[in-house]
Amino acid sequence: MPSVNIIVKFCKGCGLCVGVCPKDCLEMSDKLGETGITPAVVKDESKCIACGDCATICPDAAIEILEDEPAKK
Ligand code: SF4
Ligand code: SF4
Repeated sequence: MPSVNIIVKFCKGCGLCVGVCPKDCLEMSDKLGETGITPAVVKDESKCIACGDCATICPDAAIEILEDEPAKK
């Protein structure tokens, strides 16, 4: 399963990633983050297909998608 990492200190709370995700994995937090905005948070990582759209659209490079490590030989 891919892993979605939102780097909260880079997030400005624009919501673009939430709107673009085809699998409804992300949502905006209802709590202020350390930088004084409500950041995007991962709602349901289990549905992520690692399409990368959220990371691509994020203007602040605040999202990393970590795909499964290939099996070691
Ligand atoms: S990689 Fe794709 S499916 Fe996964 S959270 Fe981002 S937009 Fe959604
Ligand atoms: S697109 Fe980037 S800056 Fe905007 S809410 Fe999502 S993570 Fe935060």
